[in-house]
Amino acid sequence: MLFEDHFRRPEGSRRLLDAIHALTEKTGPVRLMEICGTHTMAIAKAGLRTALAPDVRLLSGPGCPVCVTPAGEIDGILQLCGQPDVLIASYGDLLRVPGSQRGDTLLRRRALGAQVRTVYSPMEAVELAAAQPDTQVVFLGVGFETTAPGTAACILEAADRELENFSVLCLLKRTEPALRALIAAPDFAVDGFLCPGHVAAVTGAIAFSFLPREFQLPAVVSGFEAGDILYSVWRLVAMLAEGHPGLENEYTRLVAPAGNPAALAAIDQVFEHRTSLWRGLGEIPDSGYALRPEYSRWDAAQKFGFVPGQANEIPGCRCGSVIRGVCEPGECPLFGKACTPADPVGPCMVSSEGACAAAWKYRAR
Ligand code: SF4
Repeated sequence: MLFEDHFRRPEGSRRLLDAIHALTEKTGPVRLMEICGTHTMAIAKAGLRTALAPDVRLLSGPGCPVCVTPAGEIDGILQLCGQPDVLIASYGDLLRVPGSQRGDTLLRRRALGAQVRTVYSPMEAVELAAAQPDTQVVFLGVGFETTAPGTAACILEAADRELENFSVLCLLKRTEPALRALIAAPDFAVDGFLCPGHVAAVTGAIAFSFLPREFQLPAVVSGFEAGDILYSVWRLVAMLAEGHPGLENEYTRLVAPAGNPAALAAIDQVFEHRTSLWRGLGEIPDSGYALRPEYSRWDAAQKFGFVPGQANEIPGCRCGSVIRGVCEPGECPLFGKACTPADPVGPCMVSSEGACAAAWKYRAR
């Protein structure tokens, strides 16, 4: 039996569902939020929303990196890719995200002749720059603490090799300030958090200790198998039932309490904090990463005078509300009608980690 199979056994899931049900007889229905796109997909794939209802309502928060990138920043990227001799290198998901104009994507711009490449790691973009010295290669650095170390490493590599034709458009975001903004919102109504295992592998579980300490909200760092998630939900509900919210780490096979020191050191060496704009959450101080001044030669924003647009959502799209967990995908009037994965309106339907894409792909479960 594979190690992961321990987290997939139906009899274990049944027992956890029964235990959660017994606890919610005491607490009443609870609302929990996952803040990681991989959790969103795993929950939908395993049919856990249906299995847990009505005792537990699972809401998706701002955990999909492509989804939280605002339309104005996509518009700015589309402007950038029109510049002569500029090659945009990006993870695949971002290529299909429209800016403020429906259908206007990097993929479309590529079809019209712009130089746009899909890469699977930032280091591939560095190699592209090394191989094409007459082309300015711009890597689109999106994501959270999970992708920040790899992006930092590629900047250090470019600096080491003195690659003057490589730069990073740094749109990386930090999780903690976004959670604080979410909690401060007047419509916040969540009883506990399923914390992202991948982010915590970098930051350490300790990065989420502010949730119980400052806000009396239980938090469990969780893995991604159905058994991981059900166990984590059970612990969250148990803490609510006991009236003792705390932080627990269910994903001990990957997440250390203090995280990954080498990854954290790389982030700290290359980046500083900056105010960042989030789709659905607006401007949040200290919620983004920017290149430190000593690495400004590899900062695409400075090199090309990147200016994000001020545009809002495409009319009718409710991605901003979906990201905050105040609107479920099926409540968007466009879901499954004007907006499908084949013809998406907003990023939540484009991304392989988007709540709308997850709801659509596994809608019968
Ligand atoms: Fe946006 Fe489409 Fe989701 Fe509606 S269904 S919120 S338009 S992605």
